[in-house]
Amino acid sequence: MENRMLLGKTVIDGFVICETGLHIGASKENMEIGAIDAPVVRDPVTREPYIPGSSFKGKLRTLLEKALSPSEPNLINKRNIGTDKNPVKIHVCDNSNEAINCKLCRLFGSTAGRAEGSDNFPSRLIVRDLYLTPESVERLSDIDTGLQYTEWKFENAIDRVTSAANPRQIERVPRGAEFKLEVIYNIENPEHLETDLKNLKLAFELLELDALGGHGSRGYGKISFKIEKIEAMSIDYIKDKSKIAGHVVCKSLDETEIMRINSLFNTSKM
Ligand SMILES: [Zn+2]
Repeated sequence: MENRMLLGKTVIDGFVICETGLHIGASKENMEIGAIDAPVVRDPVTREPYIPGSSFKGKLRTLLEKALSPSEPNLINKRNIGTDKNPVKIHVCDNSNEAINCKLCRLFGSTAGRAEGSDNFPSRLIVRDLYLTPESVERLSDIDTGLQYTEWKFENAIDRVTSAANPRQIERVPRGAEFKLEVIYNIENPEHLETDLKNLKLAFELLELDALGGHGSRGYGKISFKIEKIEAMSIDYIKDKSKIAGHVVCKSLDETEIMRINSLFNTSKM
């Protein structure tokens, strides 16, 4: 594996807003009998619903993989991360030498395959768990649904074989709820910076046109992004905040803004 360097960080700060009810399911194992059929995942300490960074990142990855597949022939190599009965096939590079040249795996990371010489390529993206904003916690603590911060909705699924109705209660975070977003992109290679950030922006846009969590085809999980600021920092600046030449603050991931970040790391001395 080639020697990886850390040249800087790009920190994306903002919010994810639920435009429709959001259901990110929790395991039912530790639910009491008589509880709702499909509960949402909650912080074990505060009991507030949250969006695990892993779920959020996984969705971005899936959407970007589909979008890049027509133009990136290497993405045809898929691995089954599910079971034989329930296969889930996604693209994952088998080793770090492939991953560094793969537009998907160098952003989202890859784990070693079974072949000898396989190794991991840790993700350049860090997606923090997304917690409700204090304003949303306050607003949702007043709702009168019998559940803490959430609502529930009946969904009547019909068994396609027996035609039997299977009514279920699905718990959702109500529309209008806002979660704090923090995504960090590690700058390791100036030559990849522009493409990686453009692909991240594409993944955000695709997610707004898709759905987060369960039951997306029934209207759940429409979200929108509100980006507050994007801060790019060189290692020199992180060490010494007076080195302002290594620092830029942007408002979006639009092309002109990405070029400003790019100019921090693609200078004539490189
Ligand atoms: Zn790959």
